[in-house]
Amino acid sequence: MKLISGKTIAADIRETLRQRIESLKEAEKRLPKLSVILVGDDPASATYVRNKERACAQTGILSETIRMSKDTTQQALLDVIYRLNADDTVDGILVQLPLPAHIEASEVLMAIEPGKDVDGFHPVNVGKMMTGMQALLPCTPKGVIRMLEAAGYDDLSGMRATVIGRSNIVGKPVAQLLLAKHATVTTVHSHTARIAEVCAEADIVVAAIGRPKLIGADWIKEGAIVIDVGINRDEHGKLCGDVDFEQVKDKAEAISPVPGGVGPMTIAMLLENTLEAYAEHEKGGRGHGSAAV
Ligand code: NAD
Repeated sequence: MKLISGKTIAADIRETLRQRIESLKEAEKRLPKLSVILVGDDPASATYVRNKERACAQTGILSETIRMSKDTTQQALLDVIYRLNADDTVDGILVQLPLPAHIEASEVLMAIEPGKDVDGFHPVNVGKMMTGMQALLPCTPKGVIRMLEAAGYDDLSGMRATVIGRSNIVGKPVAQLLLAKHATVTTVHSHTARIAEVCAEADIVVAAIGRPKLIGADWIKEGAIVIDVGINRDEHGKLCGDVDFEQVKDKAEAISPVPGGVGPMTIAMLLENTLEAYAEHEKGGRGHGSAAV
């Protein structure tokens, strides 16, 4: 079994980004900047935002976090986004989800200038990804593809991939990006019949459901490649994925762990997207830097 360590792959990517920013500094160029908006006091969101700030600092990307009260109005939040959209020193804007219930998240995400949408959630970027145009790609799905590439699975021609989960932020875009890599893709979800049987036909399984260790050995074909996006707590409160790693590891040809798998890739892709948005911004366009994979 080959372990696909997102932690190691992400560290390499971050080092490459750090060097690119170092050379911008040496050339006395403007540096890329990410603005993060955190609404409310959800502790998990606060931790995610702190991790993003730290990752930016380590890479040399400038970052600011705009903290807003949980009672903030939708209009006040939109006004901050409009200000950041117009600010030429800001390359990436990220609104940490979830938002308080009285704020319509889709309205907020739609307000972000697509060229600064480093989360890749704006419908313009989603549409561009769907049609194979250059776009800022959503970080977690992009990270999944980069893990496969780094592990030597680049051209997926002739391979059957099954994505478990169909959320807008993970399942659906992962399926689309696998399709763009020439895999034959099936998406399964909570309404799928004979789900384990369907998964057991796949050469590649990407699990993104949020159910601790649901995926056992009977879901996985001998020699399959398994990427586990899930982040859950097991019965002892320990971090675990959607895949029962111990059961599956000897059956799979390659598998990503949790922790140390997709999680670190998501942050690395956020940093990369910020740099791509910066590069487009510097070119004078408000285009979308990354090539669709
Ligand atoms: P979601 O709740 O929005 O979607 C879950 C999907 O799983 C749904 O489409 C649902 O149909 C499907 N599902 C639920 N139960 C199922 C079952 N028993 N069998 C088959 N399908 C089932 O979740 P999400 O935002 O897509 O996140 C999924 C998981 O990935 C979560 O654990 C989340 O924490 C994790 N996640 C990790 C990262 C990362 O950086 N590693 C990023 C985003 C999400």
